[in-house]
Amino acid sequence: MAKIILSREAYFHNLDIIAQKVGEVSKIALVLKDNAYGHGLLEMAKLSHEYGLTQAVVHNVKEAEVIKAYFEKILILAGYEYVSDTKYNYVINTLEQIEKIPEGTQVELKVDTGMHRNGVAMTEVEMALVSIQKQGLLLQGVMTHQRSADTLSSEWFWQRENFKTVKAEVLRLQASLDFQTPRFHSGNSASTFRFQAFDEDLVRVGIAAYGCLQMDKGLEQPKMRPVMRLVAQKIAARTLLKGEHVGYNATYRSEKEMVVSTYDVGYADGLLRAASNRYTTPEGEQLLGRVSMDNSTFSGERTSLVIFDDVNSYAQAASSIGYEVLVGLHPEIARVVV
Ligand SMILES: *Cc1c(COP(=O)(O)O)cnc(C)c1O
Repeated sequence: MAKIILSREAYFHNLDIIAQKVGEVSKIALVLKDNAYGHGLLEMAKLSHEYGLTQAVVHNVKEAEVIKAYFEKILILAGYEYVSDTKYNYVINTLEQIEKIPEGTQVELKVDTGMHRNGVAMTEVEMALVSIQKQGLLLQGVMTHQRSADTLSSEWFWQRENFKTVKAEVLRLQASLDFQTPRFHSGNSASTFRFQAFDEDLVRVGIAAYGCLQMDKGLEQPKMRPVMRLVAQKIAARTLLKGEHVGYNATYRSEKEMVVSTYDVGYADGLLRAASNRYTTPEGEQLLGRVSMDNSTFSGERTSLVIFDDVNSYAQAASSIGYEVLVGLHPEIARVVV
């Protein structure tokens, strides 16, 4: 099987840049959902702890349970089940959800400021806060999500204005509803780098910490380094004569006599079949013919082949995005920290 190599140095470098932007390490919540974007949930939790991060964001309780020892606070995005723990804050995505949450649970209210995906409407904020109080829940945060923070446009600004309106309303209602001042946060990776002067309580960073943030030209471009490298081992090499074909359905035909090698990585591991015949590795080897389930063929005869060290260029060859490729990497591929 192929191997995933994780660079501690690259990760800490990225966290240094984020910490500099937001002012304090304690304001960084690392998004570890979906096996830490394929990097390995436990591996990234341990590295984060080593760096000094105290906050994390996950998709569900199952993930939170795995990494609980390494963080002081974990924000859980999807409330399928509620395990009570002082470390856990559950995101409220709808008004109806509030009545299903057990009394005493710590929650953060998500407000829809324009993405129209999750969160209560801006007009429902008061109703939500009343309902949270009635249900006996402990409000610890109010949050939103930006839909176009990586895009050069005015979108980020009007959503920010909407969130400011929400914030003012929450603080106004605090007088009559009597709850502690919640933490306010709206930023994913891209959004974090849109602030001229960061003025929120937390950022929820995923892709930037993993070193794969892409921003439109004209926006601030933090110099991140990809944390992950996917490396495969050679199974066999052979010489193709001119005009011979490689792989299923013979989609690659050699132009000249050449050496090709088979590697231990295929679409079962997360290598995209759509990249077949369309990708060249960072060391200049071409992906030849169709990717198979557990194998693929590349030009050359390297014993150890770096499939990618920057997921975005690889994803682009398959008309995908870095996020999608990363989360598709099989959880059983060994993750090795160097
Ligand atoms: C996934 C997610 C993030 C992280 O997004 P990145 O673009 O990877 O930084 C932040 N907030 C929420 C609510 C998310 O679902």
